[in-house]
Amino acid sequence: VHELSIVESVIEQIAERLGHTPIELVRLEIGELSGVVPDAIRFCFDVAAEGSTVAGARLEIVEVAARCVCRGCDAEFRPADKLLLCQCGCADVAIVAGEELRIASVGVSAHV
Ligand SMILES: [Zn+2]
Repeated sequence: VHELSIVESVIEQIAERLGHTPIELVRLEIGELSGVVPDAIRFCFDVAAEGSTVAGARLEIVEVAARCVCRGCDAEFRPADKLLLCQCGCADVAIVAGEELRIASVGVSAHV
């Protein structure tokens, strides 16, 4: 996953919705299974935000823990790493949480 392109698309989405409104806070939800590295996002953010309405905004990342439900026994569990295997031995599991990569909220600057 290319974190820089993710950050750029997030900034684009914000600009599309909020136009020229200066942003002071961006809160992102990043799931454990999304393959996105939060630290890499933090690293790219300031550079990508430069010259946009998001420049200088604070970045908050909410990490979402992975959760699966087994289709074999209906147990809900937290998978270890990327291995989606239930205790009952069944690998037919549905991912309930942990794949998200989305903007949770955006804080608009109050000084305008
Ligand atoms: Zn199971």
